[in-house]
Amino acid sequence: MLRVVDLQKTYPTGDEALKGVTVSVEGSETVAMIGPSGAGKSTFVRCINRLTEPSGGEIHLDDTTLTALGDDALRSARRDIGMIFQEYNLVERLTVMENVLTGRLGYVSAWQAFRRSFPAEDVERAYEILERVGLGDMENKRVDELSGGQRQRVGIARAVIQQPKILLVDEPTSSLDPETSDTVMGLLTDIAAEREVPVLINIHEVDLAMAHADRIVGLHGGELVFEGTPDDLDERGLDQVYRGADVPENVGNGRASEAGADGDALAEADRPLAGET
Ligand code: ADP
Repeated sequence: MLRVVDLQKTYPTGDEALKGVTVSVEGSETVAMIGPSGAGKSTFVRCINRLTEPSGGEIHLDDTTLTALGDDALRSARRDIGMIFQEYNLVERLTVMENVLTGRLGYVSAWQAFRRSFPAEDVERAYEILERVGLGDMENKRVDELSGGQRQRVGIARAVIQQPKILLVDEPTSSLDPETSDTVMGLLTDIAAEREVPVLINIHEVDLAMAHADRIVGLHGGELVFEGTPDDLDERGLDQVYRGADVPENVGNGRASEAGADGDALAEADRPLAGET
């Protein structure tokens, strides 16, 4: 179970991104975090694995207080947090299988990691997960040959093979067309439920959040302004979260469809892992 209590973040620029947000995610539920741009959603997700250092508050994952950990303990606690990113964060020139196995890097020795030699059971598990995400025959393809939807499936497989205690998902569909977005969200929430892993999804499109989440939390200006089931999110709730701004829907942006690897998906350069801020 993830329990975030009174989380605050003020950036060195003076921007108060989070003003004391309390949210819990437990069991095998999927919680979607919605809110207008600048509401603090990314900051919230990044504070949980401390890619961004919180300014105040506490974060508990099961019995571990993540906010109290030193560097070594934090490194090992991060094994328990599976991350799925908007831009996939895959290693472009490696194969699907190699990318999935990077999810096990926290569990093997530095020497094994250097040799890319993984235990047989990890490889077996990788085959099984690839089958489950619908990439059963693609293990030897380089990820730069894949469509956007296929890449996000690799991202899901890599996070799941980590056997995390929670999945944190940051804008998983913002590079995908509407149909692929819906499929990917369904796959993600189904797999998480099967494996009884709770999921926190930071998502822009309200209709996708309502269709796939068990619970929705809404941020506005760094504060929690809505918490409830998709059915509870009526016009008044949406107004609290968006305050008259247009409510973003899953209309897509025409990029990176699952049906064909288009130019945008192929042109995307390797992206470095997010660093400390
Ligand atoms: P969202 O994900 O909801 O769009 P963010 O968490 O990205 O919101 O941003 C919340 C607020 O924090 C915004 O005002 C944004 O300008 C500010 N912010 C985000 N990242 C940084 C940063 N690295 N340095 C300074 N301010 C930042």
